[in-house]
Amino acid sequence: MEVPSREVDRPFHYLVPEHLNLLSLGSRVLVPFGRRTVPGYVVGFSAPPEGVKIKPVLKILSEGLSPELLELAQWLAGRYLCTLAESLHCVIGAGREKKRLPQRLFAAVEAGEINGLKITPKQQKVLETAVQHPGLNKTQLARKAGVSPSTVDTIVKKKLLTYGYGINTPSSTTADNLPQLTAEQLAVVNRLNNYINHGKHGVFLLHGVTGSGKTEVYLRVIAEVLKKGRQAVVLLPEISLTSQMVEVFCRRFGSSVAVLHSRLSAGERYAEQQRIQRGDAQVVLGARSAVFAPVPKLGIIIIDEEHEPMYKQEENPKYHAREVAVYRARVNQAVVLMASATPALESYCRAEPGGPYQLLTMKKRVRQLPLPKVEVVDMRREMDAGNTGIFSRLLLDKITDRLNKKQQVVLFINRRGYATFVVCRKCGLVLKCPHCDISLTYHYDGYLRCHYCNYSRHAPKKCPRCGDNAVGFFGTGTQKVEQEIKRYFPRAVIMRMDGDTTARKGSHQKIIDAFKNGHGDILVGTQMIAKGLDMPNVTLVGVVNADTMLYMPEFRAAERTFQLLTQVAGRAGRGDYPGETVIQTHTPEHYSIIYARKHDYKNFYQKEMQMRRALKYPPFYYLSRILISGENEERVKAAAEEIRGVLEDTASAVKTEDKKVIIMGPAQAGLYKIQGRFRWQMVLKGRVASIVRQVTRDAVQKWAQQARGRNNINVSIDIDPQFLF
Ligand code: ADP
Ligand code: ZN
Repeated sequence: MEVPSREVDRPFHYLVPEHLNLLSLGSRVLVPFGRRTVPGYVVGFSAPPEGVKIKPVLKILSEGLSPELLELAQWLAGRYLCTLAESLHCVIGAGREKKRLPQRLFAAVEAGEINGLKITPKQQKVLETAVQHPGLNKTQLARKAGVSPSTVDTIVKKKLLTYGYGINTPSSTTADNLPQLTAEQLAVVNRLNNYINHGKHGVFLLHGVTGSGKTEVYLRVIAEVLKKGRQAVVLLPEISLTSQMVEVFCRRFGSSVAVLHSRLSAGERYAEQQRIQRGDAQVVLGARSAVFAPVPKLGIIIIDEEHEPMYKQEENPKYHAREVAVYRARVNQAVVLMASATPALESYCRAEPGGPYQLLTMKKRVRQLPLPKVEVVDMRREMDAGNTGIFSRLLLDKITDRLNKKQQVVLFINRRGYATFVVCRKCGLVLKCPHCDISLTYHYDGYLRCHYCNYSRHAPKKCPRCGDNAVGFFGTGTQKVEQEIKRYFPRAVIMRMDGDTTARKGSHQKIIDAFKNGHGDILVGTQMIAKGLDMPNVTLVGVVNADTMLYMPEFRAAERTFQLLTQVAGRAGRGDYPGETVIQTHTPEHYSIIYARKHDYKNFYQKEMQMRRALKYPPFYYLSRILISGENEERVKAAAEEIRGVLEDTASAVKTEDKKVIIMGPAQAGLYKIQGRFRWQMVLKGRVASIVRQVTRDAVQKWAQQARGRNNINVSIDIDPQFLF
């Protein structure tokens, strides 16, 4: 039995009482623990050690886990250095606890079939009502059909009605009206089907430009997987789960689709998990955690927009869905298909010849659509010309032009402007750490600091390069842009989409739908709008300030900028008119902007790989991050230094030169103080992943033993961190 606590990360013995003899591995149960009653997980059955008095299990909270998923949880705990309890909790998913079942009902037959069924007129009436008004609860449906609720129960028992989350769109796309695949799509589908048909394990990276029709590829290979009696899991960025994407899958696969996303209620989630486990749902769409979907016979895991940092979980276990997918697929002899127009460097380099992944490429857009034209505006020139506003003259002209033509405009701002960095608005110089090549972060004490190595210097009043006073601190929010744009175009209908406007359930989709249906002229938004939205009437996309992304104090800043610019540009020109993108920046000479303008992933990749190699960052080096936090600033700092000492000892045991681990820090984390807690961090890097992991684990454990009793210091480990802020 595992109990979720770091201090007691080991199994305990309990007695299984007679009436709970159906208890299975991986079940979540309630047990007495000391004086408390706590939840735990069943991790094995064995005779208790001699002389130990064991207490009984009190109650089963949720059902067991397949042996496959139990093993996965064990692997996860070792791979990401968390407790087995944390990892079990994650794999099982809180949603599998028995909660109230969803009340919404859907017809399980198509409208046309109802007349042929041998059922009573009352039952017929219920079915017809359910077809006309899907998603009612039992009472509502009974009332609407003018029958008693027990009639509804009867047809649920006959499986003509099902409880569900809301998917019962029957598949309407028959073989005849599927689009004809392009030559590139066909080649990709054939390669994948070859693996699927032979039940062979393989990991594929599909590099397909925006609009190359990646979704159609997914649909075709899933159809093949289903033919083989296996299931498909499709991971999407959370935001795509509320968009057209789900609709597309439902239209193709009808009621065999299950959707898992964070907005489901516990009951809805439970119902979906049940359908998946029983094999009723063969296609699972979901965000990151759907990688643990309890499908009985896994055939394929597809990861759409695989470069998305959201695929990494920020809490324990801090797993990356890509790694879990590859592990699961190997165990199940299944296929992994990750796809993106801008693959993560880690993925693309693994797909190089001789690497563990296989590369698939689609270079052209479907229907011979051209890639959108991208123009870069040098904001230093704007300043020289006396324009100190946030919009360039070119962008304003183009917006005016589109508004006149009744076409739509999207303006994009990076909301991750949490760090204040310093840029000279005259010459474009950005102050960076001389050791780590990441932007220095401005602190309120007037210092600029590197939060990797703790280098610091005074914030300059004048630009160290050109001597000008135009030194600026950066950060422009969506609201400011909205206000400004209103000032320029008072008659245009402006809509805004960011974390604030979309906090309420479903509001995101409402904004998108309204804009798509022509209720707005200009949409102002954050990276949310960069993802997977097909908006045919958008012919101009403006990136208000590419620099806020480019100078994030992260070693992946250039990569993220390239990805976002490429994805944002990919939004334009999907309809009948060609699309155009305008990028505003103070450093147009930066390679990530130059290559994004040319849609040139390959050259960006090569240049960025050179930088990473020179500076010893991933994918050449593996990282781990140790974050030390607590309320007492001095003690946190002291603990960080102690851990550094233990790390040095531990790391010195590694004698082979190319396996050695480099320790950076301790340094103040970029977000130094959060909710009264101070944060220091250390970053480890090394060429061998397992050694980095081992040194990290051993040192933290050793320190924890020494520091026993020194409480209120929290040490958190992140293996392969996505952000080092
Ligand atoms: P991507 O995900 O690669 O950016 P999408 O999958 O969104 O591209 O496809 C872009 C559009 O092209 C969609 O509207 C899709 O329906 C359409 N499409 C896909 N394949 C074909 C095809 N073979 N012929 C015509 N249209 C297609
Ligand atoms: Zn540094």
